Amino acid sequence: MQIIDGKAVSASVRERIKNEVEALKNMGKETGLAVIIVGNDPASKVYVNNKKKGCEQVGINSYEYALPEETTTQELLQLINRLNSDTKVDGILCQLPLPAHIDEKTVINSIAPEKDVDAFHPVNTGHIMIGDYSFLPCTPAGIIEMLKFYGIEISGKECVVIGRSNIVGKPMAMLLLQNNGTVTVCHSKTENLAEVTRRADILVAAVGKANFVTPDMVKDGAVVIDVGMNRNAQGKLCGDADFENVKDKCSYITPVPGGVGPMTITMLLNNTLTASKNNTKQ
Ligand code: NAP
Repeated sequence: MQIIDGKAVSASVRERIKNEVEALKNMGKETGLAVIIVGNDPASKVYVNNKKKGCEQVGINSYEYALPEETTTQELLQLINRLNSDTKVDGILCQLPLPAHIDEKTVINSIAPEKDVDAFHPVNTGHIMIGDYSFLPCTPAGIIEMLKFYGIEISGKECVVIGRSNIVGKPMAMLLLQNNGTVTVCHSKTENLAEVTRRADILVAAVGKANFVTPDMVKDGAVVIDVGMNRNAQGKLCGDADFENVKDKCSYITPVPGGVGPMTITMLLNNTLTASKNNTKQ
């Protein structure tokens, strides 16, 4: 069994991004990411800080817009509108979730697709569907990058994704399919879940429940990718897999923390780099 080291893969990808950002800068093109946060959600603040640190590390200029909880949808749309036409800004990220009174869908749809580095805009999700894209959603893209880094073959393999959210499960399934995996997507209405997951050569869990994936759900020698970010009874960060009991059945497994998480921000930086490169072509 080998533990997939998301930090190591992430460091290697960030090194490449840093070199490319610097090369663009030497040609006179700086790269910029606007990060918008609304309200005081502590987890969101941590994510935004990590995104800013990531930008610093690879030489991307980050511009933070911290707006008060009572910001209206209209005010947020005005800011995004301004950033859409700001040439210093290659990518725009609006940290989710937004406060309940803000219309999240309208906000996501207002980001110019060419600056939508989270790849949540329907135009970008459509591009992913047809396999012709600039940006991939960060978490699934990071997972594909990790599989490739470890030389794990996707083509022809049985891939099972548990979870069908728009940000993880569905795009993950599309990317595995594009890489020639045979893909099954499971969700809360799936019958005989363990029977389905036991078929998987590559099992991706994106459920959001601690200890959800138990050894009886895993085929011997499977690759288990754990997307979950949960707190266990002791308040410790953990994934969806019962790691201690599952790991010995696997050929590879991602730990939580230190697996999928570090790759997500790295792929955001990669998408910002892509947006910047695209802007040099116009
Ligand atoms: P989500 O929107 O809550 O989706 C969870 C999915 O799990 C849903 O599709 C749901 O099915 C399915 N599910 C729930 N109970 C199930 C059951 N008993 N059997 C089978 N499927 C079940 O969550 P998400 O946004 O995709 O995130 C999933 C997890 O990944 C969370 O822990 C989140 O914190 C984490 N995450 C981590 C990263 C990272 O960078 N590491 C990034 C994003 C998310 P239905 O559709 O039928 O309800």
